[in-house]
Amino acid sequence: MNLAQMIERNVRRIPHWSAVLSETRNYTWEEYNRQVNMMGNALRKQGVSKGDRVAICLPNSPEYLVTYFAIVKLGAIAVPFNIMFKSSEVCYIVNNSEPKVMVALAGETMNGLMKMREKIPSIEKIILVGEHELDNVLSYPQIMQEESDELELVDCAPDEVVTILYTSGTTGQPKGAMLTHNNFYKMAELNSCYVDLITDQDISFTGTPFCHIFFVTTVLGPMYKGAAVVTAPRFFPEKALELISKFKVTHFAAVPTMYIYMLETYLKDPQRYNLRAWRNAQSAGAAMPAEYIAKIEDSFRVNFCENYGATETGSTAAYGRLGHGKAGSIGLPSDNWEVIVGDQNNQSVPQGEVGEIVLKGPGLFKGYWKMPEATEEALVDGWFHTGDLARVDEDGYIYVVDRKKHMLICGGYNIYPREVEEVLYAHPAVLEAAVIGIPHPSKGEIPKAFITLKSDCQAIEAEIIAFCKERMAAYKAPRVVEFLTEFPKNYSGKIMKKELLNRYVNM
Ligand code: ATP
Repeated sequence: MNLAQMIERNVRRIPHWSAVLSETRNYTWEEYNRQVNMMGNALRKQGVSKGDRVAICLPNSPEYLVTYFAIVKLGAIAVPFNIMFKSSEVCYIVNNSEPKVMVALAGETMNGLMKMREKIPSIEKIILVGEHELDNVLSYPQIMQEESDELELVDCAPDEVVTILYTSGTTGQPKGAMLTHNNFYKMAELNSCYVDLITDQDISFTGTPFCHIFFVTTVLGPMYKGAAVVTAPRFFPEKALELISKFKVTHFAAVPTMYIYMLETYLKDPQRYNLRAWRNAQSAGAAMPAEYIAKIEDSFRVNFCENYGATETGSTAAYGRLGHGKAGSIGLPSDNWEVIVGDQNNQSVPQGEVGEIVLKGPGLFKGYWKMPEATEEALVDGWFHTGDLARVDEDGYIYVVDRKKHMLICGGYNIYPREVEEVLYAHPAVLEAAVIGIPHPSKGEIPKAFITLKSDCQAIEAEIIAFCKERMAAYKAPRVVEFLTEFPKNYSGKIMKKELLNRYVNM
């Protein structure tokens, strides 16, 4: 098999329909496939063959999607990088994954990287997209110009690795999750079926970078059914709303904070946008504050669907069924997934009690690249231990309580920051909120809240604390509140609690 079979199927079935769109380009399936084939032949000429790793360090763009499937067709392994990484971060992942070729965006990071090329010895060739004056590099698309636009798929076993995807690193050093052809093919199929039955008439767009596992939901799922994918290099709320209007996007997916900013932008000037084609809004990557779900559905007139997954699960392991979702819940396990909310022995905890989400299913990764100990810790007897705590209700719906690592113990009481954050989000002046535990001499830890305010809104610490105490047991309410102008976030838009701990633990 080869994951790229799904591309060839569309070329046979709907060759002249739009496949990949951007502000400057519109490839049909036939044109897109020709680009992929030329890039595949060019990579082969640079020595890439089955099993070799190829790094992609590009923003969301047609070039990204061409490069990705070129690598896949050769049976090689794509290693997506975040373009916001600094040279040292790129070095870490390069030295872990040892790619032979790197396809990257010309610019500062690459200029810096070229100066320390001896630190990334595995890379034999660098192919740059965009203007540059660097020596010893090849240029995209020049390398493709002489190439044939035909390329046969390299046959791969279902469990051969197609992509090494690095985890966000919100809780530690990034780890390279090995995902196979079968993982991505099955999860593309699953993602294409569960949201409102996506078809070849649909147009999908996402705010999250393609180097994140959400790629499977936002790109592979739609492509599986022949839907077109819109690409835009960076997320800006205004731009996202403009592109949804311009391209008549039907399916949009993003992490919660992106929706929060889009909502703020939209409500200032709703007449500016035409969101009539937009039907489906998916959120994943972090908990969507319940407060926002109705606002998203009412303002954008869309169906909202919350997904749950991790890099290691190859995307959506659980999701809220359209029309049957419950606010604050990640829904039910995805088809063919087994999800246990269990104790240390993988035994389900009684309904309503908190346990760890442990799961297995068709997207489950093969292990971490060159990290056998981390793999052994995460994958026990074929079950992935997510480190996420949850409860299950009487209908089997799962509610993520928080990550195990985020829980704090204050004077002997367990506090789940997410519960406090939900209350903070209900405050009319609060735009974004995050709660962490900070050391306290007698109580062990106490909750500290970080907040950004909506534009034109004001609030003071005492009022926020009082607001929380009115709505929850006093011991859970934050004892300290710090106002920020902006949250530290990772490339996928998630708030980096690790950074908050490092940067702001000073009472
Ligand atoms: P690292 O593992 O390196 O710390 P990360 O866990 O942020 O990084 P991802 O694989 O991007 O890396 O994120 C997966 C995690 O995101 C899940 O384990 C869970 O904690 C969180 N998550 C995903 N979807 C949801 C959701 N709908 N609700 C709550 N949490 C979610």
